Amino acid sequence: MTQQVQNSRTTPDVVVIGGGIVGLACAWAALRDGATVTIIDRDFEGDRTSHGNAGGIAVTESTPISVNGLYMKALKWLFDPLGPLALDWKHVPTALPWFMEFQRSGNKDRFREISLALAQLNNRVYDDIVPMFEDIGAMDSFYRRGALTVYETDEAFAADQHEWEFKRDLGVRWHAMSADEVRDCEPSLAPVFRHGVFLDDWSHIGDPKRLVTQLRERVKQLGATFVVGAVKALDLADALAPAAVTETGERVKGRRLVVATGAWSAALAGSIGDRVLLDSERGYNTTLPAHGISLSREVIFAERKFVATPLDIGVRIGGAAEFAGLKAPPNYKRSDALLALGKRFLPGINDKGAVKWMGHRPATPDSLPVIGQSPRAPSVIYAFGHGHLGLTQSATTGALVADLLANRTPGIGLEPYSISRFRN
Ligand SMILES: Cc1cc2nc3c(=O)[nH]c(=O)nc-3n(C[C@H](O)[C@H](O)[C@H](O)COP(=O)(O)OP(=O)(O)OC[C@H]3O[C@@H](n4cnc5c(N)ncnc54)[C@H](O)[C@@H]3O)c2cc1C
Repeated sequence: MTQQVQNSRTTPDVVVIGGGIVGLACAWAALRDGATVTIIDRDFEGDRTSHGNAGGIAVTESTPISVNGLYMKALKWLFDPLGPLALDWKHVPTALPWFMEFQRSGNKDRFREISLALAQLNNRVYDDIVPMFEDIGAMDSFYRRGALTVYETDEAFAADQHEWEFKRDLGVRWHAMSADEVRDCEPSLAPVFRHGVFLDDWSHIGDPKRLVTQLRERVKQLGATFVVGAVKALDLADALAPAAVTETGERVKGRRLVVATGAWSAALAGSIGDRVLLDSERGYNTTLPAHGISLSREVIFAERKFVATPLDIGVRIGGAAEFAGLKAPPNYKRSDALLALGKRFLPGINDKGAVKWMGHRPATPDSLPVIGQSPRAPSVIYAFGHGHLGLTQSATTGALVADLLANRTPGIGLEPYSISRFRN
């Protein structure tokens, strides 16, 4: 049964579907523009992706996942049952078109195009996110201390140099560190790292779930109406007031609809005939509240593909990319495997009270989000598919969506993020 949590005017300017970090950031930006906003979520407090991520404002991640040459590595990883990449073979037929497009995204020209589009978003993240954090009272747990990528081998460090140089061209600030500098920077790390890359502009937050709660409370305070309900389709029959139709048949109407349902968005886009390649890239982590070590910034373990973030609520150790769809139960052995790596590289870390988690990264094959109007109906605006960077790009997506809602020309060209790229 759809439950109205808070009442307001009948036909709002905007109905935002999805109350994760992206939907809330869109609602926040629209409210600040003076729009009336309704937000629908099937479970506002539920443990979705935005609640448990690594907390990184990872603005330096301006190259797609589909790096050239990834395939040989990927094949090796697939034969390691608890390695960084896993594929549930039952999911292969569904995921095949996604993987074919993923492969195309590694093509040299496309890789460059995607990187420029990612950099265009990432390079403006702080301009958008700082005002949002200030407004919602989140600055006290926002840590602009950079991040450290560490390498165990000379070979892996050398192999990544080309990409680091390319990232510098994209505007990413970084400098290489020797083994001694790595140890001085983060003394809790095991003394096995031969190289480091310090990323000046990466930052992290204290607790992703707290951030979502703060933003939701602020959006409520700014006057949004909250509706609890599972949306099954969009209905465009009334061009002036399209509707989000819930599973119980209720119609929540607005002048514009914003689809921000993360990894669950393909079905809603499909309900009005917009095709998108979107899959859940399931990620795992473990949070250690009583860790007992000192860590100042997020550490990225280059060869092992996992990260450790010193959140306010504990050190969170996580990563992994598992393709098994939205419904398969979590395989927490992956959290355990990541924790075992964490213990090896952060010796002495205490796992008392450890909490395991799995979340669904909304992944497109080209690592670009879907932001922009539906080619079928300008009243429908998409804001999903942020993959590894949904927290990072949340406020920027909100600002761009608010531009569209207010009929302003968005600050950057939105062509690279259009859902039309999946048309054939
Ligand atoms: C292990 C891991 C680590 C990560 N680390 C980082 C990081 O360090 N930095 C970073 O920037 N990003 C990170 N991410 C990615 C980031 O968490 C996601 O990109 C982001 O949370 C996506 O936000 P969202 O609002 O689009 O989706 P979600 O948070 O999934 O929110 C979608 C909302 O839509 C609702 N919903 C879905 N379908 C319906 C429906 N039919 N009707 C009604 N409501 C519906 C859901 O209940 C949910 O509340 C990480 C992800 C994982 C898994």
